[in-house]
Amino acid sequence: MWTLVVNCGSSSLKFALLNSATGETPLSGLAERLGSDLASVRVDRENERVTVPLPRGSYPEAFGVLLAELDALGLRRDVRAVGHRVVHGGDRFNTPVLITPEVVEVIRACIPLAPLHNPANLAGIEAARAAFPDLPQVAVFDTAFHQSMPPVAYRYAVPTPWYTQYGVRRYGFHGISHEYVAGEAARRLGRDPSGLNLVTAHLGNGCSVAAVRGGRSVDTSMGLTPLEGLVMGTRSGDVDPGLPDYLAREAGLSLPGITAALYRESGLLGLSGLTNDMRELEEAARQGNENARLAVDIFVYRLAKAIAGMATVLGTLDALVFTGGIGENSATVRAATLARLGLLGFRLDEEANGQAVRGQGGLITSGGVPALVVNTNEELMIARETAEVVASLVERGA
Ligand code: ADP
Repeated sequence: MWTLVVNCGSSSLKFALLNSATGETPLSGLAERLGSDLASVRVDRENERVTVPLPRGSYPEAFGVLLAELDALGLRRDVRAVGHRVVHGGDRFNTPVLITPEVVEVIRACIPLAPLHNPANLAGIEAARAAFPDLPQVAVFDTAFHQSMPPVAYRYAVPTPWYTQYGVRRYGFHGISHEYVAGEAARRLGRDPSGLNLVTAHLGNGCSVAAVRGGRSVDTSMGLTPLEGLVMGTRSGDVDPGLPDYLAREAGLSLPGITAALYRESGLLGLSGLTNDMRELEEAARQGNENARLAVDIFVYRLAKAIAGMATVLGTLDALVFTGGIGENSATVRAATLARLGLLGFRLDEEANGQAVRGQGGLITSGGVPALVVNTNEELMIARETAEVVASLVERGA
């Protein structure tokens, strides 16, 4: 079944046409800077990449380019559904769902929880509906996988009415990726997912770890917002909750200004003063830049603490999984992290670790608790889940 997977950001639209059974992807691309004079769509065909300028173009124009590409491939009529990545489903969605007017209303109601992402996701849904009026549209939520967390993991120790009236609790993100790599890890280990305790570490520009018991998330490091937890590219991760008040008084900064800095000027970028890019930091550290070295060290230190915390949640650990741009490519970060986790019994295989780069996943330990690199594929996960929702509709005769 051909599924179109759509992931809309505030001025971007990522798309991919996938066969949900085989993962074959004859078409994918990224529309960027939508709404501006510099808007463009990059189209990746099987053996070719082209960039189409789209001045002032927005989602509908980007979908126009996509439709023309599908026509050129002769595949427009073969697309069976559109699967949307939706960032925040609050506590209302623990599975992917067919998008109905009621579902749209719930996604809208979750906007205060994800003010940058959910409006973009809704705009994408609207444009996709206009472009593909006859196709089922499915929402796959980044928060859904973590809805299996128990209250002991998701509640904050704050006044209860904040939770009951305003939904102040931990939701967790990157669920699509954590779920995908947990399933893949089980497959590669030749084990039944229902009997496995895994810690999954998604390390990209955003970073989070999850504790996965029997294929279900039981804890994760991100919380109410994607700011909590690990050190990230430009996000601080955990800081003292007293920090905003202190800085507002001492530095005269506004609350929105502090929040913006915690999202965009902190993390690896804030610590190094150089870049949010791990590859560049590793290079700078090799050349003796102390700030770059400290940034990488703090990233690893906090990651190792978080992994150990997740292992404690699980009680026993069957494997640790690295994924995301850093997890899939940085042998340095993986080696340094495992070196800090001797307590858990990892034995790094240096050669295998060095080879696990650029899409080359696999086991990076020899003996002890296995650690492995699994390349994430959120698009494939969305395509599979979309296909499942559509198949269940067909079964029900809807
Ligand atoms: P996003 O979360 O935006 O999808 P990615 O998953 O692509 O981001 O991860 C981006 C991060 O991966 C960047 O910090 C980048 O430097 C890092 N990365 C990619 N390749 C390497 C590499 N070879 N070594 C170290 N870090 C890498």
